[in-house]
Amino acid sequence: MKRLAILGSTGSIGTQTLDVIRQHPDRFEAYALTANNSVDKLIEQAREYRPEVVVIANEAHYEKLQEALADLPVKVFAGAQALCEVVQMDAVDTVVTAMVGFAGLRPTVAAIKAHKTIALANKETLVVAGQLMTDLALQNRAAILPVDSEHSAIFQSLVGEDSNDIAKILLTASGGPFRKFTPEQLRSVTCSQALQHPNWQMGAKITIDSATMMNKGFEVIEARWLFGVRPEQIEVYVHPESIVHSAVEFQDGAVKAQLGVPDMRLPIQYALTYPERLPLEGDRLDLFHLGSLTFERPDLERFPCLGLAYDALARGGNMPCIVNAANEVANLAFRKEEITYGQIAELISKAMQHITFIANPTLDDLFHTDAETRQWSSAIITQ
Ligand code: MG
Repeated sequence: MKRLAILGSTGSIGTQTLDVIRQHPDRFEAYALTANNSVDKLIEQAREYRPEVVVIANEAHYEKLQEALADLPVKVFAGAQALCEVVQMDAVDTVVTAMVGFAGLRPTVAAIKAHKTIALANKETLVVAGQLMTDLALQNRAAILPVDSEHSAIFQSLVGEDSNDIAKILLTASGGPFRKFTPEQLRSVTCSQALQHPNWQMGAKITIDSATMMNKGFEVIEARWLFGVRPEQIEVYVHPESIVHSAVEFQDGAVKAQLGVPDMRLPIQYALTYPERLPLEGDRLDLFHLGSLTFERPDLERFPCLGLAYDALARGGNMPCIVNAANEVANLAFRKEEITYGQIAELISKAMQHITFIANPTLDDLFHTDAETRQWSSAIITQ
């Protein structure tokens, strides 16, 4: 029996993780569930899964949560610090990091230091602190297993292989809802258009990141750290069908890929069962029905965020942290209709020029960079 702490259990990845648990109650236990603000959903989940602990990060919801669960033998905590405490609990085997954004960094550090296995769904952690996190995981012998579908596909393609034999990673991208839009059309796209992802049902933040392709940029950075490859070894392929979830080319020219219908529960389950595979209910791939699979080069002119992420990775230091923070501010501002789609990339690009560069940042430096970039970016937007 594996005991899981699910950070962000009420979000898209969190609820699908609980669905995996529901299919294998003899293998997994939801030991700790946490949410940021979705208190009603957390109450509902606690009633169904009977965890040992629940945490609501926003302390304003603490009383409501505690009262609603008073009849259950569940410990109720609140606040950001409590997130760091539950991931270290002795009974926890694996921490599923499914919360959004930079907020995932601190609890992931705490979990790695407590030698927990990380099922990584919070890619921002590796974007902002890839070097520090991979070093820390190595020192503490904590495995970081990818939940992101592309990285799970790469991981699955590498089973039985020596990672020194990787020639290239073929990272696939759906291209998002604006794949075929002209530059003129892109100038006037709205948030509700951006939220219509063609293949994947996801949370709002990552759906907007997919529409700008910043999500793919972040995944390039994530792949660099997870698989120890050089940035120039990672090539993005726009693949609108989202069937080839990514592939690896080896030194002898062999290419291995993982294919399947778009369903996040598969990579979630694989991160929890690796190196085993368990049955999973769901749709199956029908290649006869699909007929063909197509691939295109990404267009960095129309999707500058992807290029900015490559630039940030090449510059290194705290630059990816600057890009992440500016993107979080811009992403939210676009959702609130305070800025246009085109201004997302503009704001990130300006932040990259303006915020103090640090070549070898410590974790404290990164917290400072994050705060500085958010403050600066917010000020630019409200000007
Ligand atoms: Mg992905």
